Amino acid sequence: MLLAAGRSWIDEAEAILRASRLRVLRDVPLRERTYLGIGGPARLLVAPDDAQELAVVLGRFTAAAVPFEFLGAGSNLLVADAGPSFVVVSSEGFDAEPVIEGAAARVGAGYSVPKLVKRLAAAGLSGLEFAEGIPGSVGGCVRMNAGWHEGAFGQAVAGLTLVGCDGRVEELRPDRSTFAYRSSPGVGDRFVAAATLRLTPDDPGRIKDRLREYHGHRVRTQPAGARNAGCIFKNPPGDHAGRLIDACGLKQRAVGGASVSEVHANFIINRGDASADDVAALIDQVRDEVFRKTGVRLEEEVIRWR
Ligand SMILES: Cc1cc2nc3c(=O)[nH]c(=O)nc-3n(C[C@H](O)[C@H](O)[C@H](O)COP(=O)(O)OP(=O)(O)OC[C@H]3O[C@@H](n4cnc5c(N)ncnc54)[C@H](O)[C@@H]3O)c2cc1C
Repeated sequence: MLLAAGRSWIDEAEAILRASRLRVLRDVPLRERTYLGIGGPARLLVAPDDAQELAVVLGRFTAAAVPFEFLGAGSNLLVADAGPSFVVVSSEGFDAEPVIEGAAARVGAGYSVPKLVKRLAAAGLSGLEFAEGIPGSVGGCVRMNAGWHEGAFGQAVAGLTLVGCDGRVEELRPDRSTFAYRSSPGVGDRFVAAATLRLTPDDPGRIKDRLREYHGHRVRTQPAGARNAGCIFKNPPGDHAGRLIDACGLKQRAVGGASVSEVHANFIINRGDASADDVAALIDQVRDEVFRKTGVRLEEEVIRWR
């Protein structure tokens, strides 16, 4: 892609990054940074650890029309085999240990959610038990409003530090419109740098019992061991995508190295050598066949990077 001055987005981004102190990695294979284990190289991967410095760079990227996207733990991404056609901004540098004060925890975007859940349990703070098996980062779970059963990440968020594409750092106090089902309209296209979580004090033993229950349920109902990106489709209102896919006889349907899990029909697994094209073709087949047989058009939860 050429930008206005006839320069490529890579040249333009390199020039902006040369004037910054941000850590830059080149040609980073994204299959090593995604749970599906699929994806070509990020030509430029930026790993900031300071919101103000990132803000300056994002403001310059935006002014120069340099495309960019944010990377968390890569557990909800399907990345193209040729790699993405934009700068990847990783949250991995925002990974300091959470600061716990009373019933509140302040945590960086790059911190691992399963690790956070354990830390909170040990501190006797309840509210994120549902997330024990969600392998995302804090930033990715805020952005996706990740959830399971009755719990969703947004319910626990009392404050966010966001970096806007216009180059501003903002503090947001979420309200009812900030989060929706597997989305965060109030966050929009901003980078989540940190979150303050509002939790409830509880007995660590009782919290750990709940974690064991969630874990047991997950192990019984989801594919273990195989590479996947969690649920591929959002649940349609009043139903479950997995139930519909199963009812259409699509369990174990395969394209190349990708197949619909026999354990949970809303999971697609990489059997080892799947390409992004295999997974994308399988997603399209499943969506089309479910629509043809049931009239329900499934919406993707997994995010595709091209
Ligand atoms: C085994 C398994 C089980 C799963 N179970 C669940 C589940 O029960 N419930 C559920 O909801 N999900 C589940 N998922 C999906 C996934 O873990 C969640 O969607 C999670 O929120 C993704 O976080 P991430 O850090 O991996 O984000 P990524 O996959 O890296 O990115 C996902 C999206 O968030 C954006 N993003 C990432 N970081 C930031 C940031 N700092 N600021 C702004 N935007 C950002 C990305 O640009 C992208 O659009 C599961 C996945 C797997 C592999």
